[in-house]
Amino acid sequence: MRVCVGHISAHCDNCGGQDFQPLHAESSPAHELVCFTCGARTTRRALLMQIANETVKHAETFIEISKKARGQLRKR
Ligand SMILES: [Zn+2]
Repeated sequence: MRVCVGHISAHCDNCGGQDFQPLHAESSPAHELVCFTCGARTTRRALLMQIANETVKHAETFIEISKKARGQLRKR
């Protein structure tokens, strides 16, 4: 399974894989997941936080690009 929000998928810190499986057959309170590729443990919460951080980075990049674009317009 993949953990994604919008078009951003969470990836394993260890190997970069994007496929995870639940650590327990039934969903545990902590929502623990293991990387399908390397077996590293993580939690659904950690992956959602990672996606949130990615989203902020994307937003900051967009703001930087907008600022540069505006700066170039002023020079003309
Ligand atoms: Zn991994």
